[in-house]
Amino acid sequence: MEKQQLICIVCPMGCHLEVTKENEEYHVVGNKCPRGKVYGVKELTNPTRVVTTTVKIKGGLLNRLPVKTKEAIPKEKMVACMKLIDSIELKAPVSVGDVIVKDLLGTGVDLVAARSM
Ligand code: SF4
Repeated sequence: MEKQQLICIVCPMGCHLEVTKENEEYHVVGNKCPRGKVYGVKELTNPTRVVTTTVKIKGGLLNRLPVKTKEAIPKEKMVACMKLIDSIELKAPVSVGDVIVKDLLGTGVDLVAARSM
């Protein structure tokens, strides 16, 4: 039997979850709503995160532009993605929603501008 303690990050309540895997079935306790169960099972089977960060930009109001992944990407690819994102240098102007990196490291998810500059 596999057991893991987690804190649900879906909402600010931060419920303490205990996820148990037994006979290929997952059981979640500690969740105050159904979203916690979905999160708990996903964390053990396919953990993902939306990346929100900034990239260097020249000729803009600020010297860094907020960016984010359009959807969540596999957690295991986050370090490699952050390394790639850190190497990017943009030139203004950029519009909110512009694709900065298409199919970020083969995740099928685009990195987009989170504001115009
Ligand atoms: S289980 Fe539900 S109520 Fe608790 S933190 Fe997760 S989303 Fe919020």
